[in-house]
Amino acid sequence: MNALDPGPEMHALVERLYPLCRSITGNGVRRTLEIIDEYLPLTVHEVPTGTQVLDWTVPAEWNIADAYVADPAGNRVIDFRESNLHVLGYSVPVDTTMPLAELRAHLHTLPEQPDLVPYRTSYYAPAWGFCLAQNTLDALPDGDYRVVIDSTLADGHLTYGEHVVPGRVTDEVIVSCHVCHPSLANDNLAGIAVAIQLATAIAATDPWYTYRFLFAPGTIGAITWLARNAERIDRVKHGLVLACAGDRGSLTYKQSRRGDAEIDRVLRHVLRTSGRPHTELEFSPYGYDERQFCSPGFNLGVGSLTRTPYAGYPEYHTSADNPDFVSAESMVDTLAVCREAFAVLDRNRRYVNTSPFGEPQLGKRGLYDSLGGRSDAKQAQLAMLWVLNLSDGEHSLLDIAERSGLPFDAVAGAAEALLGADLLVACPQDAAARPDPATRSTAAETKGVTG
Ligand code: ZN
Repeated sequence: MNALDPGPEMHALVERLYPLCRSITGNGVRRTLEIIDEYLPLTVHEVPTGTQVLDWTVPAEWNIADAYVADPAGNRVIDFRESNLHVLGYSVPVDTTMPLAELRAHLHTLPEQPDLVPYRTSYYAPAWGFCLAQNTLDALPDGDYRVVIDSTLADGHLTYGEHVVPGRVTDEVIVSCHVCHPSLANDNLAGIAVAIQLATAIAATDPWYTYRFLFAPGTIGAITWLARNAERIDRVKHGLVLACAGDRGSLTYKQSRRGDAEIDRVLRHVLRTSGRPHTELEFSPYGYDERQFCSPGFNLGVGSLTRTPYAGYPEYHTSADNPDFVSAESMVDTLAVCREAFAVLDRNRRYVNTSPFGEPQLGKRGLYDSLGGRSDAKQAQLAMLWVLNLSDGEHSLLDIAERSGLPFDAVAGAAEALLGADLLVACPQDAAARPDPATRSTAAETKGVTG
């Protein structure tokens, strides 16, 4: 295995997590978090059934040991042990015998995709059911069938995990993945695999922001996190919901509800300048947990990155979303874009030119000498001139990159050189909004005085 290529390791993790029967609660989620913890240490939270979270209530915990439908001869014709997709998620327990005609009301198929088993759940309305291929159903003879679902729905917990990469400031970037789907690989094991590698990579960069990785069941998990972190929400400055990260389609970025949040501009810049084929979508209140983070009361700057978007591929929510559907190369590509985007976000700040009357003389400060021999000397010089000209406390480095048409890296590199020569200082507004931990108490006192 090539240590520089995380693809094989990500794909191996997808295969390892694939068999587990996850749901919005229960031991499948716990086991999944235990496995993630082997790669990325997690803080795991257990929230009791019945806990009020925003407008929702944490439901009873669901666990399942076995389930099957047996034909009159006793053969298991639908078998949970073959695939956990065969059981309607959150099925109440059942143990009975009934004729096929009656059983049909509890059977879910995809007539248009007759070889595939659909993924179905009934979290909030008590029900039981089985999912199977239309072709399997068509081959079932009439007769009495034994129906067993050995599940429990009882007071327990909702489980989610977090990993924090500490930054130089307490302002946060959240990266969120849902962990509630059973044997489905792209949706969302690929996102989990990419998020683990992303967290490891960011930790090695001594990041500016604090990065919080959230592994939680869809909808109710994000709502629970939001409900339990009310005092922390104003620290969340940016975020990305990561899902469907491994199919062979091109990347899709769905904007935050704001549409012009910094994360939106960063992803747009990175995707456009990378030359990758990609799609940008405006926000819609449908999809993954951006629905919760971008609900109007929170309205966070959280976008969503997928390859083929939510529900946009025929394998979506079927047994065809298996590990073969996910490619290591695609996950590596998704990871690369995430890393590029966060590298831009993490360095994007505003500065003030300390010598704004006429151009400062770069030569006497050694700033031309530092360019000598560089193949990109011309670009680096242009970048310095742009940064000096637009660093008025209003324009961020990303603004400057976009206005100048220069790569963000060149602009950020120029800013570093100019900072080193004392020709730039951090914008006071940015400094006040994003205090270093060491200066936080001063900022808190200031805030206390004003209000
Ligand atoms: Zn899904």
